[in-house]
Amino acid sequence: MKKLLFHQYEYGSDNYGVLIHDPQSKATACVDVGDATKAISALEEKKWSLTDIWITHHHPDHTDGLKELKIKTGAFVYGPKIVSQHIEGLDIQLTQDDQFVFAKQIVKIIHTPGHTTDMINFYLPSQNILFSGDTLFALGCGRLFEGTPFMMWESLQKLMRLPEKTIVYCSHEYTLANAYFSLSIDPSNELLKDRVKSIESLRKANIPTIPTELKVELDTNPFLRAANAQIRENLNMRNNSDAEVFEKIRTLKDNF
Ligand code: ZN
Ligand code: FE
Repeated sequence: MKKLLFHQYEYGSDNYGVLIHDPQSKATACVDVGDATKAISALEEKKWSLTDIWITHHHPDHTDGLKELKIKTGAFVYGPKIVSQHIEGLDIQLTQDDQFVFAKQIVKIIHTPGHTTDMINFYLPSQNILFSGDTLFALGCGRLFEGTPFMMWESLQKLMRLPEKTIVYCSHEYTLANAYFSLSIDPSNELLKDRVKSIESLRKANIPTIPTELKVELDTNPFLRAANAQIRENLNMRNNSDAEVFEKIRTLKDNF
């Protein structure tokens, strides 16, 4: 299997951008552009030149630098087909089950509405890598600005069906705050307790907690565990649907 290189960089108050590079063809993609200057410094640091830009959704912290980066690099821009707010500069618009080729590898599009209705995630099966935007976070999920809880639960289930070894790059370092919320929902989960300890030491040393692994999220992220008997018991929702349990967890987090 051909190995692509991944480079994560920080921008804004808590955002992550990622560069994807193929050493053979020199093709380089970047996922979202909240800050063109930061993206350009990351490219210069790696000595990679940009060929593709992949946009997950319309929010300014993911698109503010798009116009400038596109003009400076001439990169081809992939983005969402569903329009919740117009994104200027897209060259192609993608939705569920669309795919394209990057560095001879298939990139599959998973439409995951909820945080916004336009949200798309980029999945590279050959690399076991998912770019989840603001849909799935480490120990969290995106706030529901445009979609319904049911919509978001359907979206998260699409991601939950990917192979457990999938490495997940999400767009924000929200993990420590998410960790304390997760403990409030699932306090007897030993894997979660251990994970929170390691997150605390990583963040104390200012080390990113991203990327994460799908298996770890399935074991510890309460937003993916609406079917878990202990969590249902804790919420007194033994007979509710998974979507209702998810909605309750999302509401509790909004007020945490
Ligand atoms: Zn967002
Ligand atoms: Fe964001």
